[in-house]
Amino acid sequence: MNGPAQRPRPVGRGIGQVTYSSAVRRANPHQQWPVTVAAVCRPAARVARVTLAADHLRTMTRAGADEYFGLVLPGPDSADPLSGQVVRWYTYRAHRPDAGEVDVDMVLHGDEGPGSAWAARTQPGDRLAIKAGRSIYTPPAGEPQVLLADETSAPALAAIGDWLRAGDYPTDRITAYLEAPDRDCLVEEAWPFPVTVLGREGHPGEAVLRKLRELPLTGAESAWACGESRLATQARRYLLGPANLDRRKVAFSGYWKVGQAKT
Ligand SMILES: Cc1cc2nc3c(=O)[nH]c(=O)nc-3n(C[C@H](O)[C@H](O)[C@H](O)COP(=O)(O)OP(=O)(O)OC[C@H]3O[C@@H](n4cnc5c(N)ncnc54)[C@H](O)[C@@H]3O)c2cc1C
Repeated sequence: MNGPAQRPRPVGRGIGQVTYSSAVRRANPHQQWPVTVAAVCRPAARVARVTLAADHLRTMTRAGADEYFGLVLPGPDSADPLSGQVVRWYTYRAHRPDAGEVDVDMVLHGDEGPGSAWAARTQPGDRLAIKAGRSIYTPPAGEPQVLLADETSAPALAAIGDWLRAGDYPTDRITAYLEAPDRDCLVEEAWPFPVTVLGREGHPGEAVLRKLRELPLTGAESAWACGESRLATQARRYLLGPANLDRRKVAFSGYWKVGQAKT
């Protein structure tokens, strides 16, 4: 895992391979890098873990714990990994610089979305591309922290856990709530902080939002809320309104939206 304790890697162009840091990738948001599917497995019944490999992943530095990236799905020319036009956003669940590999855990929700449909069928040897994303999570600086997630942000929550463990951050004041329609779309993880798993009740995010409103918050906390659009936006509204948190300490992102493609 390329965690915060590691020294920055070199920036620039190497001989015969691209070497870059996340800052370089952010400066070139439209640039794409080819990758090859090295392995596929199912760590849960409705999660495909896809391992992507490329030499440039040996020199990539991570922007942060929950860094996401654009998966540019294969295009019409299967011989050209850069021919794809359809992008979906996913999280680096793990990064192994020595092997030049990353893992991405993709929820399988049927064939209506190209991301899920691709994840259900991809095989080792498939070629595609990735493009730069960023990270929004900040580790706590002594304050209590609340993390709110659903099945699509469970990989980011787990990557946050790995990042905090690797960086030796204290985790005793972190509380996490993770909502999912069922256990089939959650991977078993060794969490470094307590995670309460909630079943889905009605619209995605409602169970987490109900739990959030019950918490005895003081306003001194920081928070991270990622998942279905309503989870993220309603959590932010509550945290900045009635709960009175500092807006600089609230990170949120809508990862998907019921009834709409997330392009
Ligand atoms: C920063 C970021 C990081 C993300 N990281 C991950 C990750 O690591 N793993 C992961 O699985 N997802 C992740 N997502 C969510 C993922 O990008 C969306 O679920 C996306 O919509 C999937 O694309 P698709 O082509 O399968 O479906 P789309 O074409 O986007 O949508 C088609 C239909 O499927 C529905 N849909 C989309 N996702 C789901 C779902 N999970 N369950 C039920 N219905 C759904 C939509 O509402 C729409 O009706 C992330 C999103 C963001 C923005």
